[in-house]
Amino acid sequence: MNLLTETRPLDWLTDFPAIPDGWAYLDTAATAQKPKVVIDAIARAYGETYATVHRGVYQRSADMTVAFEASRQRVARFIGAGSADEIVFVRGATEGINLVAQSWGDTHLKAGDRILLSTLEHHSNIVPWQLLRDRIGVEIDVAPLTADGRIDLDAVEAMLTPAHKLVALAHVSNVLGSVLDVRRAADLAHNVGARLLVDGCQAVPRLPVDVAALDCDFYVFSGHKLYGPTGIGVLWARADILDSMPPWHGGGAMIDKVSFARTTYAPPPARFEAGTPHVVGVVGLHAAIDYVDAIGLDAIHAHETALVTAAREALSGINSVRLFGPADSAGIVSFAVEGVHPHDVGTILDEAHVAIRAGHHCAQPLMEHLGVPATARASFGVYNGLADVAALAKGIERVTRIFG
Ligand code: PMP
Repeated sequence: MNLLTETRPLDWLTDFPAIPDGWAYLDTAATAQKPKVVIDAIARAYGETYATVHRGVYQRSADMTVAFEASRQRVARFIGAGSADEIVFVRGATEGINLVAQSWGDTHLKAGDRILLSTLEHHSNIVPWQLLRDRIGVEIDVAPLTADGRIDLDAVEAMLTPAHKLVALAHVSNVLGSVLDVRRAADLAHNVGARLLVDGCQAVPRLPVDVAALDCDFYVFSGHKLYGPTGIGVLWARADILDSMPPWHGGGAMIDKVSFARTTYAPPPARFEAGTPHVVGVVGLHAAIDYVDAIGLDAIHAHETALVTAAREALSGINSVRLFGPADSAGIVSFAVEGVHPHDVGTILDEAHVAIRAGHHCAQPLMEHLGVPATARASFGVYNGLADVAALAKGIERVTRIFG
C-alpha cells in the first residue's frame, strides 16, 4: 500500500517547504506544518494586498474586508454553521473557551450550577472553568474514561443532573486520539437542559465536522493545527446563544455607539472581536481550509488511521513499549518505553531525525489517571507516510538498545 500516492493528491515535498527530506515530523497534534499555498497566501496578504479591515474608505481596505469576510463564510461552510455570523474569530481554542467561560459563563451560570468535564481534557478546557468557579462558585464534575481511553458516556449519563448547565468535552483527545461520540454527548447534555461545548482542536484537522449534525452548542478550534497560521482560531456558537452573550473585551470594532454616558454594542460576531483583528491570519486560515478540503477530511482521516494502525503494530512488536489509548484513535499515538523517561525517548529520536512530543501534553489530570508523569506522543498529518512510521519504530528500537 502506498499511502502517499493513495491519499495525497498534491506533491507533499513541494507542498511543505519546512519539512526537509528525511525528517519525520510527528508532532502535528502540537502544531501542523504549513503547505506552500498557506505560506503564499500569507506572503501575498502582507506583500501585495495588505490593509486593515472594516474601517477604511479606500479600495485596498474594502478589498481586504471582502477577503476577511469571505474567510468567515468559508469557515462557516467548512464546519456546517448556519450562518457566517455564528463564526467568531479568536486567537485560538484557548481564547475561544475563555471567551465562553467569561461571557456566557459569568452571565448564564450562578453559584451551585454544575459543569461536567472529563479526565482527558486539555488544560485549556479545565482552567477557564476553574477560574469561573473561583469567580461565581459553580461546581465542576469530572467524567471518567473507559478502560481503552474514551470519555465514558454511560458514566456521563449517570452523572448528569438538572443542576448541570454545561458539558465541555474534547472531540478528539490530544493525548490518546480517542474520538468522542459528540451527537450522543449532545443528547445527554440536552436531556438535562445543559449546553455542550466541544473542544475541536484535534478533530477539525482529522475528521469531517458538521456542527449542525453534531447538535452541539459551542465548538472551538485553532487554525495552526489545521495547517493554517498561529494566532487565529474559531469559536462557533448558535446565533441565539451568541445573541444572549455580553461583550467580553471592550474596544474598537465591537461597538454600536460610544459616549461617556452610555455605550451600545455591535451584534455578533463583531461584538466579540474588539480591536484590529488578525487580518492576515484570517486570510491564511481560508487558504488552509481550501487545502484540507481539496484533499478531503474523509481521505485525511483514512490516511491517518492507516498510519496509526501501522504505528501501533510496529510499536507493539517492541517488548518494552506500552501503548495508550484505543486502537481506532484519530491520528495520535501515545506510548511509554519501560524504564526510559519520555524526554530521553524524544531526544534520542531527534538524533534520528524523528520529531515527537514528550511531556504531559497540557493534560496533567490524564497523566495522573494513566499513572505516568509524561508520555511520548507521535501524531500524524497529511504529509506523513509509512516511511515516517518505520523511522519511528527504528528509533524506538535504538532507544531500547541504548537503555538495554
Ligand atoms: N484543546 C486541545 C485538545 C488541544 O490539543 C490544544 C492544543 N494543544 C488546545 C485545546 C489549545 O489550543 P491552542 O493552544 O491553540 O489555543
